[in-house]
Amino acid sequence: VIEVNHLSKKFGENTILKDINGTVKSGQVICVIGPSGAGKSTFLRCLNLLEKPTSGEVKFDGTDLTHVDGKQLLDLRERMGMVFQSFNLFPNMTVLRNLMLAPIRVKQMSEAEAKKTAIHLLARVGLQDKADAYPSSLSGGQQQRVAIARALAMNPEVMLFDEPTSALDPEMVGEVLEVMKELAKEGMTMVVVTHEMGFAKSVANQVWFMADGYILEKSTPDEMFENPQNDRAKDFIGKII
Ligand code: ATP
Ligand code: MG
Repeated sequence: VIEVNHLSKKFGENTILKDINGTVKSGQVICVIGPSGAGKSTFLRCLNLLEKPTSGEVKFDGTDLTHVDGKQLLDLRERMGMVFQSFNLFPNMTVLRNLMLAPIRVKQMSEAEAKKTAIHLLARVGLQDKADAYPSSLSGGQQQRVAIARALAMNPEVMLFDEPTSALDPEMVGEVLEVMKELAKEGMTMVVVTHEMGFAKSVANQVWFMADGYILEKSTPDEMFENPQNDRAKDFIGKII
């Protein structure tokens, strides 16, 4: 579904991503790990062109996103859902309205249809009883599950997650990972920046290790966490275990 070729990204003089290559196939889950400042978030944002690559290709379903713009880019971007570390829910809207907004505005879905979808998705993330609640009354874990449901409301083909559990209290990490595991099991294509090893081991097809703007190693989770080949990866994994 996603093919990245010789992607590089500069901010001014600083080259943040250097000759990144990789393929994400339909149904695959890729976990991206690496130290702070490695370029993980920038990489993820380049995948849906929230950040414009300096050079290289990002192909989504065969179309190079770096060569389309306007409506075509928006249409392609809609097909990728994104979930951030901070939940970014609209604070002045109920949970249900948060989920209904984009489908109505962007997809011209009817109120009734959007509501039906929203209720269904809330059930899927275990929050059917929170439809009328406002985000501020929810725990962090619940807010993040709403954020996932909101991304799913656009019916994306790919989900991008940027450290979805790192802002959560430890006791809430599990419930969010559980929702993500379910999604993976249902065959969703996912790219997940996370250091949650248990999650990576149970669902990832590959783990990509990034440092200094390079992908230095791509391995299966077992290899990456038990026997990394790259020295920087070894060092990093030694620290997070
Ligand atoms: P973390 O684990 O802390 O989230 P990361 O691997 O996600 O780190 P990025 O956020 O991608 O790293 O940042 C990589 C580098 O790019 C950092 O040095 C950062 O300062 C720089 N950078 C990111 N966004 C911008 C920007 N908009 N303008 C200038 N520099 C940026
Ligand atoms: Mg980041």
